[in-house]
Amino acid sequence: MAANNTKHKLVILGAGFGGLTAARAVEEASEEDAALLEAVLVSAPGPAVVGAFAPMVLKGKVKAEQVTRTVAPGGLNLSRVALVPDVVQSIDTENKVVRTKAGEISYDDLVVSLGVEYYDAVPGLNDAAFNLCDTADMVALRGALLRAESGTVVVAVGSLPYKCPPLPYEAAFAVDAVLREAGKRDAFRVVVTTPMAQAVPPFAPHVFQDMMAAKGIEFKTKAQPSAVDAVNKTVTFDDGESLEYTLLAATLPQRAPAVVREAMPIDDPRGFVVVDPKSLRTSVPHVYVIGDSATVKVNFAKAGLKVQPKAGKFAMVQAKTAVQAVLADARAAAAGESTSWDAPVVATWLPSTAQG
Ligand SMILES: Cc1cc2nc3c(=O)[nH]c(=O)nc-3n(C[C@H](O)[C@H](O)[C@H](O)COP(=O)(O)OP(=O)(O)OC[C@H]3O[C@@H](n4cnc5c(N)ncnc54)[C@H](O)[C@@H]3O)c2cc1C
Repeated sequence: MAANNTKHKLVILGAGFGGLTAARAVEEASEEDAALLEAVLVSAPGPAVVGAFAPMVLKGKVKAEQVTRTVAPGGLNLSRVALVPDVVQSIDTENKVVRTKAGEISYDDLVVSLGVEYYDAVPGLNDAAFNLCDTADMVALRGALLRAESGTVVVAVGSLPYKCPPLPYEAAFAVDAVLREAGKRDAFRVVVTTPMAQAVPPFAPHVFQDMMAAKGIEFKTKAQPSAVDAVNKTVTFDDGESLEYTLLAATLPQRAPAVVREAMPIDDPRGFVVVDPKSLRTSVPHVYVIGDSATVKVNFAKAGLKVQPKAGKFAMVQAKTAVQAVLADARAAAAGESTSWDAPVVATWLPSTAQG
């Protein structure tokens, strides 16, 4: 096959942890590799708060403005990757085209890192609860805690899986700290609830459990919320038990965004795209899904993990792996070699014992 001189077009969707890391991997690739690619990063325009700082905002240690970045032309310090501030409306995997508000962008390879959407899986929950993943809600929760005189603060896991597994525990510790600083901790019950049988991580649940016990935070396990009654301020759980609250904060039920679910087979019935853990390839040729939209099956037996937790640090390694796989594709195309979507991937980043 003759060598091909046209550039391989990589389109990255989403400028969060995964997408930005994918863009950085292109920025940091060798000159030879970078010369093979035309790379584009598409992400919703405007200011975006880095959610990972929400517990710090709740504690009053940082202000939301300090952890906000803006997706705007020329932004994010990219030189090799063209930043397109735009909203993705659909992905046409048949014709290898992304449709945005402003137009169409074709791709040879697509790396999707669009995070999650919150959806109404538990009646009443999303309207009643402060969203632990939303920095503005954490500012509001801080205000509500400072105004309240007494009561019960419930920090609930709305459903599994959710991004940032330690978040409910970190949030409960922040609630505890705010109440202590205000000199009124004794007037409050603080309760954490989770559908899981224990705290995270699976290999060391006692760490958070001991910390909660030391701070007088109650812990209710195997507790999947089934409904929230905002009038009577009550959370009911699957086991029929209920808990009255004064303030309710929760991880809201999460799944891959509609634009992803409409384009891809959703093999994880909880609403996520199952990917090959070694390459982040999906069952749809030339589409990689990384980060919170993906289900990455692993077998970390010692850690008791069967899927990778949804966390920025995992989205980042996944992004680097996906870009390595794309570059291998681009090199093969440039050399005139045919490539197969099923071909083994050069980039193996998991220890062999951990591959599911
Ligand atoms: C409060 C909190 C604390 C956390 N703490 C940690 C931590 O300490 N360590 C850690 O590793 N992880 C942490 N996480 C988890 C981490 O933030 C996520 O796992 C990570 O952001 C996932 O990356 P992603 O690229 O999949 O999605 P995201 O980072 O959510 O990025 C998605 C991007 O896609 C864009 N987008 C979405 N839809 C569209 C569309 N239709 N068109 C255009 N653009 C779109 C969004 O604007 C966003 O830029 C935390 C999360 C939260 C909420």
